[in-house]
Amino acid sequence: MTDQSQIDALRDKPIPPQNLLIDGELCQSASGATDDVISPLNGALLTTTPAGTREDTERAIQAARRAFDDKRWRGMPPAARKKIMLRWADLLEENMLDLAVLGVRNNGTEIGMALKAEPGSAIATIRFYAEAIDKVYGEIAPTADDVMGLIHKEAVGVVAAIIPWNFPLMIGAWKLGPALAAGNSVVLKPSETASLSLIRMAELALEAGLPPGVLNVVTGEGKIVGETLSHSMDVDVIVFTGSGATGRRLLQASAASNMKRCYLELGGKSANVVFADTKNLSEAAAVSAAGIFRNSGQVCVAGSRLLVERSIHDDFVAELAKAAAAIRVGDPLDLTTQAGAVNNPTQLAQNLAFVETAQAEGGTLYHGGNQILQDTGGYFMEPTIITDVAEDHTVAQKEVFGPVLAVTPFEDEGDAIRLANSTDYGLAGGVWTSDLSRAHRMVREMRTGVVHVNTYGGPDVTVPMGGVKQSGNGHDKSLHAFEKYFDLKTAWFKL
Ligand code: ADP
Repeated sequence: MTDQSQIDALRDKPIPPQNLLIDGELCQSASGATDDVISPLNGALLTTTPAGTREDTERAIQAARRAFDDKRWRGMPPAARKKIMLRWADLLEENMLDLAVLGVRNNGTEIGMALKAEPGSAIATIRFYAEAIDKVYGEIAPTADDVMGLIHKEAVGVVAAIIPWNFPLMIGAWKLGPALAAGNSVVLKPSETASLSLIRMAELALEAGLPPGVLNVVTGEGKIVGETLSHSMDVDVIVFTGSGATGRRLLQASAASNMKRCYLELGGKSANVVFADTKNLSEAAAVSAAGIFRNSGQVCVAGSRLLVERSIHDDFVAELAKAAAAIRVGDPLDLTTQAGAVNNPTQLAQNLAFVETAQAEGGTLYHGGNQILQDTGGYFMEPTIITDVAEDHTVAQKEVFGPVLAVTPFEDEGDAIRLANSTDYGLAGGVWTSDLSRAHRMVREMRTGVVHVNTYGGPDVTVPMGGVKQSGNGHDKSLHAFEKYFDLKTAWFKL
């Protein structure tokens, strides 16, 4: 168990200026330029990261290419690769608290959640794929007797992994784990506003014995580093988590360059559907509140639309507001905090603008709605509930990525299904009911990648995570995620 004094001992630890990691070497950007890293906890300058240029990015891609072509990693015996990845996971575990605190100072997630969801789940993910390395078999096709079809699984090549700021280690591990386990080389581009723990995670991979050039890190702006990666003729696959707008640009860049594969996880507007027959409505309210307000709503799968059966609407919303009011928002490094900071001032302004628009369009501000704790210098917002939201309101259609819940009543199961499916997104959702058949029907009818039943959140690395519709394509986690990082090659023999 972590205690508060261990966290407090790390909260002001100086952070040296950061480096790029290219071809196994820590270095500055070719231009010498740096970006300030500002803490969302108090607006203070934490350190600087190199402002990666096109030239830096190109150098990282070429290092990754060489590492792939000369087989320094994919040519190693699987057992040796597995040992290195398991050592990496052990090093992450030894540095767990340091990584969690560093990450929180950079991105604002409450530490209680960060410990589990960040280093905790990243370590589990790296171990999961490390263990899988020597369990990937090719196939022999069921052919006629005079021929033989062999199906080889080969690493794809150079993978560009572009990561957002909400869970840098967890989402980073979702990409790095299977990409490296499959034998690929990687260029990693962390978010401008949450790179520090991910840089450290990559450094530990080299310490664990990953050969130079196999994992490279380039910090800097999306429109410079990310664009260079997406237009490169030498990147074979892009794996991305972030906004729909960027996802679209990646597809365009792929089409304009080498038609690299793009796997996109683009957020959601997930419906959490509560039926009147739910067994424990208080529990449903508390879990639904956590399902949107943890990490200040900065969760791709957040249950940001609450659909409630009309007969219980008023009571349920009152219960939910009680749960929201009880959530302790504040110092992300305090173990008792339940919702930390909004990651950056632009996001905070966007959240507040959504609240205004929601009201202008006819929604009712039922709870919260304000920036709070301004005296800290950090970026904090109250859990916010908007009721009377119609399906065409902006707050019912667009992802806020903040602690803002849109509530809409429904009449019956058919109405609930129609409303749940009435956005362009299809990432996650939830259903609360004591009727088993209804639960299964809802799982079938909701057009999303994940449906939670009588809970919200928490699936581990054993199950796939990915969206349908404009929430993206491809899956992270589970053995299914592995498939993105392999090519199939057929060998056809005449015997
Ligand atoms: P968010 O709103 O969650 O920050 P973004 O899509 O802007 O979503 O950012 C997610 C990641 O995508 C970040 O690492 C960011 O730097 C990167 N990114 C932003 N713009 C581009 C771009 N044009 N090309 C490639 N990557 C980009």
